Amino acid sequence: MKIIKLHDLYFKPYIKEAEIKAIVKHLAAQVKADLPKGEIPIFVGILNGCFLFAADFIREFNGNCEVSFIKLASYNGTETTNDVKKLVGINEDLTNRTVIILEDIIDTGTTLQEIYNIFREKNLKQLKVATLFFKPDVFKKELPIDYIGKSIEDKFIVGYGLDYNGLGRNYPAIYQLSRSPKMKNIVLFGPPGAGKGTQAEFLKDMYNLVHISTGDVFRFNIKNATELGILAKKYIDEGDLVPDEVTINMLKAEVEKNPDANGFIFDGFPRTQSQAEALDAFLSDKGQEINGMVALEVPEDILVTRLLERGKTSGRADDTDEGKIRNRFNEYNTKTAILKDYFAEQNKYYGINGVGSIKDITNRISEVFDKL
Ligand code: AMP
Repeated sequence: MKIIKLHDLYFKPYIKEAEIKAIVKHLAAQVKADLPKGEIPIFVGILNGCFLFAADFIREFNGNCEVSFIKLASYNGTETTNDVKKLVGINEDLTNRTVIILEDIIDTGTTLQEIYNIFREKNLKQLKVATLFFKPDVFKKELPIDYIGKSIEDKFIVGYGLDYNGLGRNYPAIYQLSRSPKMKNIVLFGPPGAGKGTQAEFLKDMYNLVHISTGDVFRFNIKNATELGILAKKYIDEGDLVPDEVTINMLKAEVEKNPDANGFIFDGFPRTQSQAEALDAFLSDKGQEINGMVALEVPEDILVTRLLERGKTSGRADDTDEGKIRNRFNEYNTKTAILKDYFAEQNKYYGINGVGSIKDITNRISEVFDKL
């Protein structure tokens, strides 16, 4: 089960289909056991939310019964409104009958109270209420709830017939509104030597973000001679890109290692169109997205000088040989530079002059970060 998005909100998996089935089965058995032998109840479902519950409940009830539905509008978005509007349905004579109201969820109980009052005047033999879900923390009424499938905390839920502004009823499981604050996810972009790593070191502390540099992760793996490191080394030493599949899986694993992050600075990733698409899909499954690509723009001749200078101390084979450096630019220009358009099309590209002092550049970047 994944996070789902309905209109503007995200909902996380909450109650699985199998658990719902077990709850419904148990409820139906309880109701049946309490009925006098031979009694034919009228189940009255409260639309719209109860349609799936009622359908499953009646099948599990597995006995003679009548079924009817009533409808009233009381929900407006995620808040229960106090004015119950209108009641539609039930024209049959209910005198001396056993009526069992089927509700998908009872929270404040306002809706139910209105309905209950109407039925109470109909000379019934018996009136009972069965609800799939119940929110004990917000229920304010005195009326008895005879059967409760599951008591849940006071958070907005959707699925299995329940909706958020019309959407979500079709999901077979229950999802809960996810109020987790949106994360800040930024791609720090630019050609080799543009200063991404240097800047990320400052920015991650300023914004409390996790910095993931795919180059650093590869180098760590090479140093520790892991399987991944051995595989990546031959590409990296030549200044070639490591194959997408390897890099994408590694990146996902790095993100998963930080479930409590406020967000990420992606440095050196994505570097190809398919990496960018994979990142979008991966974040979207988590209800997240890239907020912006912040690109350090530096002319190539300055970059070559910077990299050769860095090569004197970095110990990086790909920083010392001008041919390999040129190959890295070639990889950048042919495979990576196109990502500017990919993000620009989504209005997420922010170009920044990457020439100047480290501090000046940090300031330029943070002006953009503050807006994202
Ligand atoms: P960097 O430290 O970002 O300059 O990366 C050094 C090298 O690691 C690159 O030249 C590539 O060989 C490899 N690498 C880093 N990130 C990626 C990526 N996203 N896709 C493919 N290869 C990568």
